[in-house]
Amino acid sequence: MITKKSRDQIALMRRAGRVVAEMHEECIRASKPGATTLDVDRVARDVLERRGAQSNFLNYHGFPAVICASPNHVIVHGIPDATVLEEGDIFSIDCGAIIEGWHGDAAITIPIGTVDTESQRLIDITQASLDAAIERVVDGKRLGEVGAAVEDIAVGAGFTVVKEYVGHGIGTAMHEEPQVPNYAGGPNAKYRMKEGLVLAIEPMVNAGTAETFLLDDGWTVVTRDGRRSAHFEHTIAVTEHGPEVLTLP
Ligand code: MG
Ligand code: MG
Repeated sequence: MITKKSRDQIALMRRAGRVVAEMHEECIRASKPGATTLDVDRVARDVLERRGAQSNFLNYHGFPAVICASPNHVIVHGIPDATVLEEGDIFSIDCGAIIEGWHGDAAITIPIGTVDTESQRLIDITQASLDAAIERVVDGKRLGEVGAAVEDIAVGAGFTVVKEYVGHGIGTAMHEEPQVPNYAGGPNAKYRMKEGLVLAIEPMVNAGTAETFLLDDGWTVVTRDGRRSAHFEHTIAVTEHGPEVLTLP
């Protein structure tokens, strides 16, 4: 079932989204060469505690952290650990927060120090694909336009989009219907978006093959060819004034 949120409910989601944005800001500051991905997770935990928010990642199907930490060829769902960030890495941070039962969810990929030209381009194109998708989150438009916008930009730049992991509705649960694929078509492509719909859109774009591989830990998803992957995500509401990104500072 696809639910619509009232203005008051969206206001609570905006509060959760602001906490997520603050987690990102602090995590970006902490993601320096020499830091471990677990160091970055601790910083995100501190923000949740300071803001009186709960984590929607911690203990989700047993996930052990408040951020997903996905460097380089890790696409999504990396577990924070003793991995040391190094100059030239790219690093995806995905995290969320709950305020009064309402969820926010967002992801960002950052360069650690100076990165090679292709890695920077991968980051820039993935962000641009999310920006283009957000513009389509408008009352009356079809959901399929969202994924099509991502695919056009990512594939047009010579990259590939991950198909096995998709965006989602969000509200009183982190993952609600509908699924939001990062490509044209899909089960809900013809569904018309309406005011009050809230989506988490999250393109995962690979430098090489779109094929994914799940590591033995049951969480970490990597590229099959070992090339790099970037991931951006925002939580966005359909409003009478157009798309509103809820996960901004
Ligand atoms: Mg996320
Ligand atoms: Mg998500």
